[in-house]
Amino acid sequence: MRKTKIICTLGPATEKTQALRQLIQKGTDVFRLNMSHATHEWVREIVPRMKTDLHLTPGDILEFTVRGTKSKEQYSVNVNYPGFVKDLGVDDKVLVDNGLIKLVVLEKGRDRVRTRVLTPAVLGSRRHINLPRVHVNLPPLTKKDIADVALGAQLGVDFVALSFVREKSDIEQLRQLLSRKKSNAQIVAKIEDQLAVRSIDKMIESTDVIMVARGDLGIECPMEELPIIQRRIVKKCIRQGKPVVIATQLLESMITNRLPTRAEVTDVANAVFEQADALMLSAETTLGRYPVECVEVLNRVAMRIERSGGAGYAKDALLENIRQKTVASAVALANSLEDSKLIVFTVHGRMARYASNLRPQRAPIFAFTPSEQVYRQLALYWGTFPVRIHFTGDPDETIASAEKFLRAKKLAAPGNRMVIISDVRMGRALIDSIQLRVVK
Ligand code: PGA
Ligand code: MN
Repeated sequence: MRKTKIICTLGPATEKTQALRQLIQKGTDVFRLNMSHATHEWVREIVPRMKTDLHLTPGDILEFTVRGTKSKEQYSVNVNYPGFVKDLGVDDKVLVDNGLIKLVVLEKGRDRVRTRVLTPAVLGSRRHINLPRVHVNLPPLTKKDIADVALGAQLGVDFVALSFVREKSDIEQLRQLLSRKKSNAQIVAKIEDQLAVRSIDKMIESTDVIMVARGDLGIECPMEELPIIQRRIVKKCIRQGKPVVIATQLLESMITNRLPTRAEVTDVANAVFEQADALMLSAETTLGRYPVECVEVLNRVAMRIERSGGAGYAKDALLENIRQKTVASAVALANSLEDSKLIVFTVHGRMARYASNLRPQRAPIFAFTPSEQVYRQLALYWGTFPVRIHFTGDPDETIASAEKFLRAKKLAAPGNRMVIISDVRMGRALIDSIQLRVVK
């Protein structure tokens, strides 16, 4: 045992819980807060983070309390959700810290739930709790969510993601809130538990974007169901014309390692092969050591796998209106030509989204739009390269300036064929059209 103790002064580089934990693991005995630099606000926040971990062994009793109730048990934690006691029943399972710690409910009091520990574990503070199969009575939008949305609206964010969506009305409430706040942000419904999986069709129908939130899904559902759930959701999203994001643990080992595991590469490749719209990194880039390398790995794997072809779920995409059918014929035309580019002129982004949803086999989709927000939102959509451009009112002129742009940026070469989806003027009316032109 080391006799000489180690004191670490904490600052921005080490204030995160993760960093604190690492420092403790590596042997820090004492932390110093330097009051010459620290604000009181920061101190109030950081001191509670230094609560000691609970070392639990199977058979131990752990009491969860709510509303700050004190416990007489040796091991207890306070939960910041008052409904915790009401939602649970005897014999229900409680999973803490990403499912690492498993407990079973023994009995309930007014403000407390006694549980028995089933797995050996070290429990830190502020851990995430999952209650599989339990209907949690949290409101879909908490006070904090509402304040967060207000901030996002004020800053003009393009997407707002809602965790643990349970029903259609959750999404509708968020949409109303966004519209009250005058935000055009698109809604990302995060599918995180069995309830959401069961009502996936309604979720897809009401939301703008779906996220397969594998972190929580992997705890809330039997883990062997996860690949099936992912595939089913991707298929359904493509069928119903909504973009889908695959999230969590894509490159988990790269939080600490420079290289991914083969299994991670294969998981990423699978999501790319399924033709999900986007892959999301979380811990890899928030607290990992190799955030840049993670992006490089995703880029490299995606580029290679895309060249090898995709699952082709878009063949079942629903074409419910005339504009979708128009876009589908343009995509079919582009698929039949080597070296073709799809060029879409779009004010609200709709035609570009339709094209993206059909997963064109080779042609990139260049989406020209005058709207700053549509331009930014289209960045999430599969195969779509948004470009901001001024629409002159004369479609022909706009097409000419788009072609000039593509030539200048070397995104198209002379001889390439452009399959153009745009309005054309017919007398006084504008009508949807598909044109085939050769890059000059
Ligand atoms: P989170 O959601 O990172 O906000 O928990 C994603 C997930 O659960 O996978
Ligand atoms: Mn989650």
